[in-house]
Amino acid sequence: MVLPDFLIKRIPKQEHIKKVRALIDDCEIHTVCESAKCPNIGECFKKKSLTFMILGNICTRHCAFCGVKKGEPLLLDQNEPKRISEATMRLGLNYVVITSVTRDDLEDGGASQFVRVITELKRINPSIKIEVLIPDFMGNEEALRNILKANPYVLNHNVETIPRLYPLMRAEANYGRSLTLLSQAKAINRQVYTKSGFMVGLGETKEEIVSLLADLRGAGCDLVTIGQYLPPSKKHPKAVRYVEPDEFSEYKRIGENLGFKRVFSGPFVRSSFNASELASN
Ligand code: SF4
Repeated sequence: MVLPDFLIKRIPKQEHIKKVRALIDDCEIHTVCESAKCPNIGECFKKKSLTFMILGNICTRHCAFCGVKKGEPLLLDQNEPKRISEATMRLGLNYVVITSVTRDDLEDGGASQFVRVITELKRINPSIKIEVLIPDFMGNEEALRNILKANPYVLNHNVETIPRLYPLMRAEANYGRSLTLLSQAKAINRQVYTKSGFMVGLGETKEEIVSLLADLRGAGCDLVTIGQYLPPSKKHPKAVRYVEPDEFSEYKRIGENLGFKRVFSGPFVRSSFNASELASN
């Protein structure tokens, strides 16, 4: 399928990317921006915006759509929180997004490392806003509770796609478990915004997308992101269709009518794209 004009991005100036890349290397940290081969990397790095990826850069799961490395994960790194805070200070960030690979090999799925990073960032800047984009911790409620006790500003957990496509796209995940996590989060700490996100263009129908939005609202989700699936490489599944910008606008309207605080919907929207904007009142 030929890429339509609205999915063609200008190649970003390399100098911006190089500067942030140098800092990332210097601080020995990982970003999902690079690992998942995000199409917005030029724009975000230019604004010194990025999403830190903790718990290493090797995932224990094998989602078909994802560009992150899969396999034997790295040992847990106790210095990771300090390096994240150093990078945060050097980038001058007041809004930080932290995500991770999924670590089903760890008893708490790595939740305690999220808590260490949040605590360290709040130590260096008590007014910092932190968004955590977490895996499902295999439904471990105590792991979720510990993260919410650390008071992130936004608790984000992506459902990624409609339930019918889970066996194909994310077989080790569970749609019901992800919805339960989002509703538990809202029940445990109402002060924390909950957020989720999904891709379209994988073969879902409009009805299935609207039903997914309703499920997320039913789980008390405040914020949602909707973006076009773009294969990170030729080895990944092809997009079934390219969703037109008008259709994204329609989902934005439907989402707002369903009561989401903010809906970010567009071809290049990703779960932490312009995250600080999405959470601003
Ligand atoms: S769990 Fe997340 S990082 Fe791991 S393969 Fe799936 S989408 Fe990628």
